[in-house]
Amino acid sequence: MAHAPSVLDFQSFATQAISAEEIQFIESSVAQFGAPLLMLDCDVIRQQYRALNQALPNVTLHFALKPLPHPAVVRTLLEEGASFDLATSGEVDLVAQAGVPAERTIHTHPIKRDADIRDALAYGCRVFVVDNLNELAKFKPYQDEVELLVRLSFRNSEAFADLSKKFGCSPAQALTIIETAKAWNIRVKGLSFHVGSQTMHPQKYVNAIRTCHDVMQAVVARGLPALSTLDIGGGFPVSYTTQVMPIDAFCEPINQALSELPETVQIIAEPGRFIVAQAVTSVASVMGMAEREGQMWYYLDDGIYGSFSGLMFDDAKYPLVTLKQDGEYLPSVLSGPTCDSIDVIAENIMLPKLENGDLVVGRMMGAYTSATATDFNFFKRAQTVVLNELAQDSERLIG
Ligand SMILES: *Cc1c(COP(=O)(O)O)cnc(C)c1O
Repeated sequence: MAHAPSVLDFQSFATQAISAEEIQFIESSVAQFGAPLLMLDCDVIRQQYRALNQALPNVTLHFALKPLPHPAVVRTLLEEGASFDLATSGEVDLVAQAGVPAERTIHTHPIKRDADIRDALAYGCRVFVVDNLNELAKFKPYQDEVELLVRLSFRNSEAFADLSKKFGCSPAQALTIIETAKAWNIRVKGLSFHVGSQTMHPQKYVNAIRTCHDVMQAVVARGLPALSTLDIGGGFPVSYTTQVMPIDAFCEPINQALSELPETVQIIAEPGRFIVAQAVTSVASVMGMAEREGQMWYYLDDGIYGSFSGLMFDDAKYPLVTLKQDGEYLPSVLSGPTCDSIDVIAENIMLPKLENGDLVVGRMMGAYTSATATDFNFFKRAQTVVLNELAQDSERLIG
C-alpha cells in the first residue's frame, strides 16, 4: 500500500470552498484547543450510516472499527442500532467499554492467537472468521461456543487496499474447511469476503456474491448443513478528489445479486471507510516557511507521520483548503513538521501567501488517518474535537 505522497493538482485544490461560518468555527476551536485538530462530526457518522442502511435494506451493518476506532463513533453508532466488526483485543475493549452488547459483534481477523480468541469469547463475541485449516484447528477447544465464517479471496488490483492478497481462500479450499469443520464438530455458519477497500465497481461484489452462492449450493450437494450467513465485507467507496457513484446506485446491482440467494440466508456487511471518511476535518497551522527553488514551503504542525499518514498507508488524496483565500497565489509546497524529507503533504500547488499561524484544512480525513498516525520525532498527534455527539444539541468535547 505504500506510495510516495501524491501531488494535488491546482484544480482540485482551488475549487474547495469554505464558508465564513466554518472559518469562524475553526478559528475559535484552534483558539480554544490549539492546533493541530481533527474535528469529528457525529452527525455525519449518523448520516452515512443511515444512507448505507437505506441503500442495503436487507443487510445488517457491522461497523469495522479499524479506520477510526474512536469511542464517540462507537457510541453514536450504538445509538443508531448498528452492529460492530472487531479484529483485535483492543477493539474488543473499546466496544465493551462503550456498552455494546456482545451479540451485536463479530470478530473478523482471519489469523488469531489463542489469547485473541479467548478475549473475544470472554466478552461474549461468538462469530469468528477462518480461511485455512491451521486456523480452524484453533477452535477445537471452543467447539460449543463458536460459529465460524469462512473467508473467500477475490483479488482486486484497483482498490486502495487489495485485502484478498493477504487473506481468504478459494472455493475449493472453503469446501475442504467446511467438511473438516463438520468432522471436528465445529459449526460453520457462513461465508465472508472483502473485495478491497474503496472499491469503485459494484460488479466486484456481484461476482463475489455469485461465487459464494455456488459454494453454498456445493455445501448442500455434499450433504453438509446449509450455510445461513453471507458477509459481504466492507470496501464501499467515498469521494475524495474524484467523484464516486452515489451509494444508492452503487448498491443496486449488489441488492439484485443478493436477492438471488435463498431467503433463509442472512446478509451482513462490514463497512468502515464509508461510515467515517467524511466525518473528520483536519486543521493544521503553519509553523514556519521558506522559499526554495521558486516555491514557497509551508511547514505545518501535522503531516505524513501524523493525520496525513493515509497518504502513505492508504491511497487517499485529501481535498485541502486554506482559510485564507485572497491575495496573490504562488507555487507552494505543504510540508509536515518532522525532520524527514518524505514528510510532504502536497507539492506544486497554487496557494495564497500564508503567514505563520495561518490554518490549512483537510477534508475527508476520517478513515485510515489518525488511526495510522505516529508520534515520530515527538510531534504529538492531533487532538480530536467531537461535535454533535448528542443528536439533539451541538456539544463540543475534546477527546
Ligand atoms: C478493514 C476491514 C473492513 C473495513 O473496510 P472498508 O474498506 O474501510 O470499508 C472490513 N472488514 C475487514 C475484515 C477489514 O479488514
